[in-house]
Amino acid sequence: MVLLDVRNLQKSFPVYGGMFGKKTGEVRAVDDVSFTVEEGEVLGFVGESGCGKSTTGRTMIRLYEPTGGEVIFDGKNLFQLSAGEMRKTRRDLQMVFQDPFASLNPRQKIANILEEPLIVHGIGTAKERKEQVQELLHVVGLNPFHGERYPHQFSGGQRQRIGIARALSTRPKLIVADEPVSALDVSIQSQVLNLMMDLQEQFSLTYIFISHDLSVVKHISHRVGVMYLGRMIELSPRDELYSKPLHPYTRALLSAVPVPDPEAKRKRMILKGDVPSPEKPPAGCAFHPRCPHVFERCREERPVFEDAGGGHMVACHLMEKGG
Ligand code: SF4
Repeated sequence: MVLLDVRNLQKSFPVYGGMFGKKTGEVRAVDDVSFTVEEGEVLGFVGESGCGKSTTGRTMIRLYEPTGGEVIFDGKNLFQLSAGEMRKTRRDLQMVFQDPFASLNPRQKIANILEEPLIVHGIGTAKERKEQVQELLHVVGLNPFHGERYPHQFSGGQRQRIGIARALSTRPKLIVADEPVSALDVSIQSQVLNLMMDLQEQFSLTYIFISHDLSVVKHISHRVGVMYLGRMIELSPRDELYSKPLHPYTRALLSAVPVPDPEAKRKRMILKGDVPSPEKPPAGCAFHPRCPHVFERCREERPVFEDAGGGHMVACHLMEKGG
């Protein structure tokens, strides 16, 4: 069953400049992005920094107000909800942030941090909430006695476990995890990733998992979406994307990922040029100034994001030429 249906999502930010700080332009951080997420699915988003993946995650749950499009979550059109209705719906929509320390109040004990969402949403009596906090600490692999400590008394990995426990506290239907392991040491990353996978199974959670790291996304996701300059350019079941990428940008990204088997030969594709300014995205296919396969049509016409077969979506004119 589809839990989340994102249709033509757009988010622009104004750009101010000049002596008087007047609006001089705008950045289309999310440009006409559409996708669906099934209940119990993990959808990964990858792309270079500034490609719009985090903004997509935040706009779709209205942490940023959208510029356009619609989001149907659990049968509700989120962008049409009143502030009060949205507050209630937040119980089902939680977020895990990259920097667990910045997202935890340093002056609050962990037990209070974890209890707060329960109080806000009127969940349980004081006694039930205390029990639930102990249970939450336990399920994320922390000692229930740690509730009496403050955030600075924990390591980075433990703090991210607390961030995950807080997101879990209201038993949400969807968790948007924005670079949840990027700030952690590599040795700790896999522990936190494995915890997230265990919890996903245990509580039948649905995740949107955002990361610039293709290996991390591959580990946890059922399907993966690739973003470039605010647009979704490829979206496919995970194994298919990693074994048969169709978009030249995805191929280039994947060619840069180290492979464990030194015998496995893979030609590294070096992309020419930098990511263009999102303030002035190129016409036609936004990737055309860097694409090794560019042809005339790419410079003029934006490719449609469409199914190339078996739910493998891609936006590239090459598909009509037969790949
Ligand atoms: Fe390259 Fe053209 Fe495909 Fe864009 S549409 S990725 S420029 S071949």
